[in-house]
Amino acid sequence: MAAQETDDHKYVYDFSEGNKDLKDLLGGKGANLAEMTNLGLPVPPGFTITTEACQAYLATGREPDGLAGQIEAHLRALEREMGKRLGDPGDPLLVSVRSGAKFSMPGMMETVLNVGLNDQSVVGLAAQAGQNDRFAWDSYRRLIQMFGKTVCEVPGEEFEHALDEVKRAKGTHNDLDLDADDLRGLVDAYKKIFAKHTGREFPQQPREQLDLAIRAVFESWNAERAVLYRRQERIPADLGTAVNVVTMVFGNLGPDSGTGVAFTRDPGSGAQGIYGDYLANAQGEDVVAGIRNTVPLQDLERLDKSSYDELLSIMARLEEHYRDLCDIEFTIERGKLWMLQTRVGKRTAAAAFVIAGQLVDEGLIDLNEALHRVNGAQLAQLMFPRFQLDHEFEAVATGIGASPGAASGTVVFTSARAVELAAEGKSVILVRRETNPDDLNGMIAAQGILTSRGGKTSHAAVVARGMGKTCVSGADEIDVNVPAKRFTVAGRTVGEGDVISIDGTTGKVYLGEVPVMPSEVVQYFEGSLDPEHIDNPLVRAVHRIMTHADGRRRLAVRTNADTGADAARARRFGAEGIGLCRTEHMFLGDRRELVERLILARAEGERDEALAALLPLQRADFEEIFREMDGLPVTVRLIDPPLHEFLPPLEQLAVNVAVAQERGEDVAKEEALLAAVRRMHEENPMLGLRGVRLGLVIPGLFAMQVRAIAEAAVAVVRAGGRACPEIMVPLVGAVQELETVRAEAEKIIAEVVGDSAVEVLIGTMIEVPRAALTAGQIAEAAEFFSFGTNDLTQMAWGFSRDDVEGAFFWRYLELGIFGISPFESIDTDGVGRLVRIAAEEGRAARPGLKLGVCGEHGGDPDSVHFFHEVGLDYVSCSPFRVPVARLEAGRAAVETDGSDSR
Ligand code: ADP
Ligand code: MG
Ligand code: MG
Repeated sequence: MAAQETDDHKYVYDFSEGNKDLKDLLGGKGANLAEMTNLGLPVPPGFTITTEACQAYLATGREPDGLAGQIEAHLRALEREMGKRLGDPGDPLLVSVRSGAKFSMPGMMETVLNVGLNDQSVVGLAAQAGQNDRFAWDSYRRLIQMFGKTVCEVPGEEFEHALDEVKRAKGTHNDLDLDADDLRGLVDAYKKIFAKHTGREFPQQPREQLDLAIRAVFESWNAERAVLYRRQERIPADLGTAVNVVTMVFGNLGPDSGTGVAFTRDPGSGAQGIYGDYLANAQGEDVVAGIRNTVPLQDLERLDKSSYDELLSIMARLEEHYRDLCDIEFTIERGKLWMLQTRVGKRTAAAAFVIAGQLVDEGLIDLNEALHRVNGAQLAQLMFPRFQLDHEFEAVATGIGASPGAASGTVVFTSARAVELAAEGKSVILVRRETNPDDLNGMIAAQGILTSRGGKTSHAAVVARGMGKTCVSGADEIDVNVPAKRFTVAGRTVGEGDVISIDGTTGKVYLGEVPVMPSEVVQYFEGSLDPEHIDNPLVRAVHRIMTHADGRRRLAVRTNADTGADAARARRFGAEGIGLCRTEHMFLGDRRELVERLILARAEGERDEALAALLPLQRADFEEIFREMDGLPVTVRLIDPPLHEFLPPLEQLAVNVAVAQERGEDVAKEEALLAAVRRMHEENPMLGLRGVRLGLVIPGLFAMQVRAIAEAAVAVVRAGGRACPEIMVPLVGAVQELETVRAEAEKIIAEVVGDSAVEVLIGTMIEVPRAALTAGQIAEAAEFFSFGTNDLTQMAWGFSRDDVEGAFFWRYLELGIFGISPFESIDTDGVGRLVRIAAEEGRAARPGLKLGVCGEHGGDPDSVHFFHEVGLDYVSCSPFRVPVARLEAGRAAVETDGSDSR
């Protein structure tokens, strides 16, 4: 930064010198004010002090050299242009001092209007406005209020109280009923408040007002709420804010003046039309503050037709120029329209798709751009069921949409009660001030979680997202009283047993049960809505963009599915194969008995009997899946978890045996079981006898599975179908493990397949760090690699997911040790590096080695981009995430391969 602190470094840009691409330097607001100025739109003249000046100020605690002089020069130029001087007693130039960072941080930083007013110039302002004393004193009291609060940290309520006092004395609720004398009196009251809190008089020097305001905007970057907001939204902490100094225009000059906000399309649905609010005789901050009721923007047509028409034509121009939905702030001063802000507007997930589709139709953007403008997180949101909010439901509170979904249920305040009621089959919402690891059972039992404190990285939010559970956090309008088992909100009391509904996407909380409706987007993916024949703009847009994504992506998308039903569903969602078919469930249910026999077998004969009994059952499972996938690749993972997971838990078994012994029953069998469980008990099951280790220790287990897979494939092919099995060995860390399994498997396959046209590939998971690091050797024995990034993450970091998410992840996120859970999005620096090494060395040793990933990262948007970049062949994820992965794989391709159609 030191190099920039020289006299000739440029810290101030006139609006005519900037443009919309300079957001890093000028902030979003400044860059767009410059852009509008250069488009010839009516923007009040002004200049922008750069984010670099702010960074320098924050680093050193003082304004960088040269800044004061540059501000002076720009101020002089502004005064010349306007023919007024800042604070001139006869005809003052007034300015606003506005924050504006690269990323919009709504309500986080401050703005001061009417800078330049003092005891003299307020009189000049009134005279210039046609002896409009009321207007001048209204502007002055606003300055003292905003300046006091923002620059000098005077508590805002004190000003509010004084204003209420004057209104009460006058017998009115409307600030428009206050006349010039009332406002003059209010200015006196405000000055006293100012002096009381700051120990000094309100500054009368205009230039001092300006400099203090600029400095306050710099400092607002590090205000606590701004810091918290940035952490939550993952905005870098070192960007700093720009400061815009803008000639004031006045919406509070009388009924022919006013101020408003507008969107060029509906940010909720994307529909075209006129969306906005207008407030006559007011300054800008009144609209947001909700001091008086606004009227719909359409009413402006009646109030001021020519400004209205001009506004609409400017909005159309902005849309065409930005090729996107814009939101704007404007002010009308005595029939003259001024533009005060524009930016590409925020929108809902549905609107994002609809607008992208519309803009393609309008020829403003192409399909690559449309694809770039939507994302998998939005698509995922659209796949959750939604509340049907027609009329009677109004939110009583709004918190942070911490984990999406729509949940209704009975209110409970403790984990224990949640578990109790859930056991009775009730749907419950766990309401807490905040959650902690003790609430885990309650969170699992609940349909949704509502907290009055904490943000997107709070314990509740992190754990709920990990569980895929609906969660609204930080709904601070709710006052939770756990001991009394009730909460109050909006003057109402809600007790245990009452029903509420929470929307984890919007963060809204409703009283009562809001009906839920299925997602149209899911109905479309499932094939029950035909995009060509229904008049649903969202479904049509999703269809169009998905089709384009499929055409562009290089990554194939497979699914994780263990049953024919899952496989069928995933195919409808667009899965091109199964990347992970777990065989564990094939050992559960009424097959437990066989597993027990397998484990308890004393002699080889007993074990072989159990395995022989399991074989046809497994074969039938595989046949069903192969038939469903009809020739698409199916990667079957040989059994992975430790065998004792299929037996009753140790404690329970011990109690049963003790009780039975007490009663004098014959417990020989249970005792044997108990002994076996004791024998197999592990301190660290995650790192114990599982995966390939199990296969090498229990004779015949893997052989049985391999035989079942091969026989199923042959059976399907003999019946005229197609089957493409890939056998995957879990938890391999050394090539010798894989070679041993392979040697036995190849013999079985050759014997089963004979001369039928069935090919069975053998490959391995890469989920132990050693496997990634010796991938060149392992590739000699593997036809494919599938990265098991869940285990790889656990073993690379040395923590087990089940233990850590509830225990300390929230704290790590709070401290910024990771920005996002490494189980949610792949840790590219560490775990990702292992993937990269294994992919490169594996392919070097065996060109054409097939590479994929299974594990939930396969459906995570950021991770999909990483896997694309590393050059994997496919990702595999749960059926529901398949569309998300398709979309993101398409976006990754468009972003890295450029926009040429391939
Ligand atoms: P925010 O980023 O919180 O919207 P702004 O800097 O946009 O803050 O300003 C707050 C309000 O003051 C807005 O309504 C804006 O339109 C209004 N405003 C800002 N500068 C001026 C100005 N020079 N003349 C009139 N109104 C202004
Ligand atoms: Mg604004
Ligand atoms: Mg694993």
